[in-house]
Amino acid sequence: MTEKFTDRLPLSRTGLDRACEQRADAEFLPTLLTDPATRVLWLHGGNAPVRHGALQFAGADSLQYDDAAQEGAEPRLVVYLGRTAQSHVVLAVARPDESVERLGEFIAGGGPVPAGESLQWLGLRDVAATLSPVDSGTFVEAVAIANWHEKHAFCPRCGAKTVVTQSGWVRECTQDQSQHFPRTDPAVIVAITDHEDRILLGANAAWGGTRYSVLAGFVEPGESLEAAVVREIHEEAGVWVTDVTYKGSQPWPFPASLMLGFTAKATSQEVKADGEEILSVKWFSREELARAVEEGGMGIPSSVSIARALIDDWYGGPVPEPKVLEN
Ligand SMILES: [Zn+2]
Repeated sequence: MTEKFTDRLPLSRTGLDRACEQRADAEFLPTLLTDPATRVLWLHGGNAPVRHGALQFAGADSLQYDDAAQEGAEPRLVVYLGRTAQSHVVLAVARPDESVERLGEFIAGGGPVPAGESLQWLGLRDVAATLSPVDSGTFVEAVAIANWHEKHAFCPRCGAKTVVTQSGWVRECTQDQSQHFPRTDPAVIVAITDHEDRILLGANAAWGGTRYSVLAGFVEPGESLEAAVVREIHEEAGVWVTDVTYKGSQPWPFPASLMLGFTAKATSQEVKADGEEILSVKWFSREELARAVEEGGMGIPSSVSIARALIDDWYGGPVPEPKVLEN
């Protein structure tokens, strides 16, 4: 049985019911914060506590303790994430100088983390693929909403401070009361093939020119996704494409993207990298790609990314990678 494309997208899995109809109730979140059953996911520098391949949660009492609070400091960000069948889940973002050891004690249930029990603070990209669907979805949601809050402390209309309302899903201006909602930046990412069914991959300057991937770019204001695909590909690879077909999407909160995956057909085989963002573009047959990766040391995107999902989907399964020697 062939794998469904969306099954290849670890960050697109969900499991939490966001219960967004409850967010506007001003008493909803404060009540949860006094409920011993509420589970708190702490983020520290974008990392979350993980043990035995699962996210680790603290009780609501962890919010009472603040070892980094100074006079006049902003309150810590707390956002309602959603509910499972068992409990409500809340995000708390630690101050940068807060002690992860102290937070670890709350996560371990009030005492020090037991010896031999390694609680690790890990990033979403490091761990998402190995988490359960509900943990992965929770972590993605937490990172995405935390990133948005971090960049929207001030009103885009008048520059005054904004404050968090609606259980963490709206910021409101303290001067003109305008409301500001979390934003997501759509980006298209495209597996382009030619009439021989070869795939077009480019070496991005940002990756040092040795890693090849499918081409991608942000959607511009007033542009359809299909038009963005055609424009971006011509810009980066000098080739026009047709038959633009949607495959699936994956949130990519680094900091705020939603990656929309497409396939498209090139109208010619002549390609030319833009030389700025993309250093070189090449056509690969399946054999050529496997050989370049396995023997030639060519890098391809990690299996967490939709880029890799598009490449594997075209390849007909995971592209074999060289075995990493354990030492
Ligand atoms: Zn304002």
